[in-house]
Amino acid sequence: MSRLLMNIISGCFLCWPLLAGCQHPTGQPQQSDTNVNMEYNKLSPQEEYVILQKGTDRAFTGDYYQKKDEGLYLCRQCNARLYRSGDKFESHCGWPSFDDEIDGSVRRVPDADGRRTEIICNNCGGHLGHVFLGEGFTAKDTRHCVNTSSLRFIPASEADSAPAVIKETR
Ligand SMILES: [Zn+2]
Repeated sequence: MSRLLMNIISGCFLCWPLLAGCQHPTGQPQQSDTNVNMEYNKLSPQEEYVILQKGTDRAFTGDYYQKKDEGLYLCRQCNARLYRSGDKFESHCGWPSFDDEIDGSVRRVPDADGRRTEIICNNCGGHLGHVFLGEGFTAKDTRHCVNTSSLRFIPASEADSAPAVIKETR
């Protein structure tokens, strides 16, 4: 069975019903500091879990961790330009990895776990993943470990017609 098929099957039958059933595990609504706006792109249950509830895609799943095509990676929620394919590298960690971001697009904040550094979209505040320093993967010694669910890839040939960034309007 192909990996893609397995992803689809596991995504449909295992993850989605599970996530749909526990989107608000503590019974609380989305955090007030999350920039929820109806005009942002509509998200799937898995994207909501990752972007709004700071969840994590399972390692070695998602469409982008092995992607090597030239292009731009946008925020799935607001279309902000976050990463260039030229800064993507193979870390074998199971998630898309970049050693740099597009200037001003990504904000670093201390993770609630007290150890790691979370990265969020600087425009919409959506959760992207975590950033790690000092691992020696590349000359920049930085690894943005980003969830596929937080990203939308635009091939270089279509970059000029990429959707506009959705600004928070509330
Ligand atoms: Zn965003």
